[in-house]
Amino acid sequence: MADHSSADPSFSGMAISQVQCRVAIVGSGPSGAACAYWLSLRDVEVLALEKKVFPRDKTCGDGLTPRSVVALEAMGLGEFLATKHRYLGLRVVAYRRSFELPWPQHPNFPDYGYVVTRSELDHAVASRASEVGATILTHHEVVGVDQEGGAITALRVKNIDDDSLSEVRAQYYVLAEGSNARIARTLGVQRDRSEPMGLAIRGYYESPRANEPWIESHMDLRDSSGAIMPGYGWIFPLGNGRVNVGFGLLSNSQRWRSINTTDALSRFVEGAPPSWGLSPKTLCGPPTGGKLQMGHSVSPQRGPNYLVIGDAAGSINPFNGEGISYAYETGKLAADVIARALEKGDHNELDRFEELLRSQYGTYYRVARRFVRLISEPRIMGPAIWVAMRDPKLMGLTVRVMANLMRDQGKGVPEYLYDAVTRALPTSPKTAVRR
Ligand SMILES: Cc1cc2nc3c(=O)[nH]c(=O)nc-3n(C[C@H](O)[C@H](O)[C@H](O)COP(=O)(O)OP(=O)(O)OC[C@H]3O[C@@H](n4cnc5c(N)ncnc54)[C@H](O)[C@@H]3O)c2cc1C
Repeated sequence: MADHSSADPSFSGMAISQVQCRVAIVGSGPSGAACAYWLSLRDVEVLALEKKVFPRDKTCGDGLTPRSVVALEAMGLGEFLATKHRYLGLRVVAYRRSFELPWPQHPNFPDYGYVVTRSELDHAVASRASEVGATILTHHEVVGVDQEGGAITALRVKNIDDDSLSEVRAQYYVLAEGSNARIARTLGVQRDRSEPMGLAIRGYYESPRANEPWIESHMDLRDSSGAIMPGYGWIFPLGNGRVNVGFGLLSNSQRWRSINTTDALSRFVEGAPPSWGLSPKTLCGPPTGGKLQMGHSVSPQRGPNYLVIGDAAGSINPFNGEGISYAYETGKLAADVIARALEKGDHNELDRFEELLRSQYGTYYRVARRFVRLISEPRIMGPAIWVAMRDPKLMGLTVRVMANLMRDQGKGVPEYLYDAVTRALPTSPKTAVRR
């Protein structure tokens, strides 16, 4: 457990307490809580600092794909998930057509997903991490960082309940603060602005179709001039009388950056099938939005004694805007690397984090970033969707690639096509390292 020791009067001129631990994590969303879970399971003393109190809301579509299901089950949350709304796949809607695409059969992933509010989901994962021994300190915000030679020497932490300050010192640090990543930015972690970013907004609506076993994506959304926008609208049933309705847009060109996402969401809601019952009357509260940093476009993801994970590292899949599973996965990778560094007493082990990210996601994200650049052009995106909507099989194969559910063994058309594309692309490692 964290050791609370004597006051140090040098910090901001006031008495503060000092806390020592092996690993300190900034943020306890999916990436931070997963990292805390996997470290604790290896008996590493870990302290995760979280500025909010669980259960807390987080702007999200609440959609869990089969990748997220696997990660949650691995953390012992299968029973929790089984009480939530399970769905079977994706209904794609565009150009007045629609069809249902069940999640594919896969040796490693289930053929179902869930829709769970983030207030329930993140509470469950953080609770699970504390069950196995992690200390999750909520209502504690990391407000600053002390550093020396690029390494973190202490985190400055404010207790939001009483405004008291403390200093947290650890052997290793993990930055899991989400997309705003104020602390990571202080350390020079930056998004590559030449890479695509997304903007998304969502609201909850009461709906008579809240128990549907399909999540729905509308792919032919248009701006006020009638041009197809590079993004999609979604309706995700929660099974509790409500649906999560949102709109996500790639914002890599000036044209799309200037789109007002609140207006775009309203237009989507107005044009949605009336059977969903979406209207200002069924809206449960003001919609909220956020940004999607994708394709590991944020770097460096490793400092001398810290790692950056989840949205803070730009881990979202550029193909579909999915970030929860990648937050869990990068949280586990960071835990594995840090646990080994502690075991061997060698901080150079942290170098492996970059290698692991590159081997697991490098090629896939390189293809995804290219894809995203292409479809940002309305003259490409419109016809591409039009063609895919005439061929459910083609669309099914595309979704398998976009959801990163391709098979290593028993490859099919999408895997072979994907392999051909990766061979055709030049190599350009995206992950930078700073020592
Ligand atoms: C509108 C929208 C819809 C989305 N829909 C989906 C979807 O349907 N499915 C999907 O898979 N992904 C979706 N995403 C992406 C997904 O929300 C993120 O990828 C995911 O939340 C990343 O987890 P994280 O732990 O990295 O960051 P976060 O979930 O942002 O967690 C960061 C945590 O750190 C805390 N924190 C931040 N700064 C500090 C600090 N200084 N001190 C202490 N605590 C701090 C925050 O309070 C927060 O709890 C969506 C995103 C948006 C914006």
